[in-house]
Amino acid sequence: MKVICPHCLGINNVPKLETYKKANCGKCKKSLLNAKAINITSDTIDKIIMTSDIPVVIDFWAPWCGPCQKMKPVFEEVAKDFALKATFGKVNSEAEQFLASRFKIRSIPTLIVFKNGKEIKRVSGAMDDEQLGAFVNNLL
Ligand SMILES: [Zn+2]
Repeated sequence: MKVICPHCLGINNVPKLETYKKANCGKCKKSLLNAKAINITSDTIDKIIMTSDIPVVIDFWAPWCGPCQKMKPVFEEVAKDFALKATFGKVNSEAEQFLASRFKIRSIPTLIVFKNGKEIKRVSGAMDDEQLGAFVNNLL
């Protein structure tokens, strides 16, 4: 399956396994298991959602939004738990107004999940780590 490296956005072909002991990016050599939320822009979003064979969970947020700030560390933490199961990304909707309008973001935080380039789920409002973990687990 094709997976985007969260560190360098390189495309990796990784066997689909239940658990992984070790998986490094072929391009930057960093561990794909040490996942983090990718900072997504209008230049990178299509590559990421079209290429990934695993679901892509994108958090649309803004610097002035209190609930978004609260959810930020939660999102990073849960991203690690889903390494090679789901890709996590975040869009600063203030800096990326084109993306906010393209995806018709009406309130933030809004999470949109993409699978094979298509939106499969959307939810608005902040979540804690348990809620976010359960939300993503349901989509795998
Ligand atoms: Zn890499």
